[in-house]
Amino acid sequence: MTSSAPLIDQFARRITYLRLSLTDRCDLRCAYCMPERQTFLPRAEVLTLEELYTLALGFIDRGVTRLRLTGGEPLVRRDAIDLVRALGRKVGDGLDELTMTTNATRLAECAGDIAAAGVRRVNISLDTRDRGRFARLARRDSLPQVLAGIAAAQAAGLRVKLNTVALKGVNEDELPELIAWVHGQGCDITLIEVMPLGEVGEDRFGHYLPLSVVRERLEKMWTLAPSDHRTGGPARYFDVAETGGRLGLITPLTNNFCDGCNRVRVTATGQLYACLGGNERVDLRAALRAAEPEAALAAALDIAMKIKPARHGFAIDRPGRAPALTRHMSMTGG
Ligand code: SAM
Ligand code: SF4
Repeated sequence: MTSSAPLIDQFARRITYLRLSLTDRCDLRCAYCMPERQTFLPRAEVLTLEELYTLALGFIDRGVTRLRLTGGEPLVRRDAIDLVRALGRKVGDGLDELTMTTNATRLAECAGDIAAAGVRRVNISLDTRDRGRFARLARRDSLPQVLAGIAAAQAAGLRVKLNTVALKGVNEDELPELIAWVHGQGCDITLIEVMPLGEVGEDRFGHYLPLSVVRERLEKMWTLAPSDHRTGGPARYFDVAETGGRLGLITPLTNNFCDGCNRVRVTATGQLYACLGGNERVDLRAALRAAEPEAALAAALDIAMKIKPARHGFAIDRPGRAPALTRHMSMTGG
């Protein structure tokens, strides 16, 4: 097998999509994502910009055509824009698409640079448009910066998709208004069920809101027509007749979507996680720092294809159940 052989796992799924985390750090503390006093990785353990770039090239060489930069919050890393610029040059030369998931707190300053580097789309997380609620949920009073970031992204010509975690007793009453607002901005929105990743200092069962319930409620108000739109990801889409916009639903807990999985994730320390919901991993940092990095990286990616599991093992089925995994979403890269 040559080093440029496509990445195909043991279940014949072709891996063409990489989520690369630039940092596990964040300027917010969303209650479902991490505790207030989160312990972050020592900076020395995090991959350098050059290592991240080499890693990305290794994946592109093996047929990865879509690359999403994430975190933690990718834009809290000072050299993030340098990496975006370097990888932006690969768009059309190996990469079909370079995207980013961000909380948008710093997007107002850099949306123009990101667009100029070749990024066409960004995903922005927004769980509420109520300032007090935002401050309680994210534990930081940053809604004005986030809204400015969304506006700046649109002004820079970036296509914006909003991601919203549906939370019982937190934002469930606001979801129709939020969806209508996002559609009014000309953007799509995807709702996500809360996933049991890492201890956050509270029981997630209390906030778990099945999207089957949300869908039933929305269908009492609106006409939701199943859409053919696909992104190769886990979301199923609906066209909302009344708002004229598209609504995605990501239902890891009520509907398993693993059969068509096309992705792997790499943490900021170079740990490849074959599944967001599993512990199967390969140390790519060791490969990058080996005597012959190119060969070591290719061999490590081959191992990853052998250990990628058939499906995730999430469940939030009863109060007090321990998280499925001890690591937080901010570490694996959401
Ligand atoms: N900081 C960036 C952001 O918030 O967009 C990127 C990283 S964040 C981990 C990526 C996505 O994961 C966000 O949309 C966030 O809402 C989601 N997320 C974090 N923890 C989650 C959890 N336990 N269950 C479901 N989604 C979660
Ligand atoms: Fe930070 Fe994103 Fe996690 Fe919120 S969801 S704490 S913004 S990494």
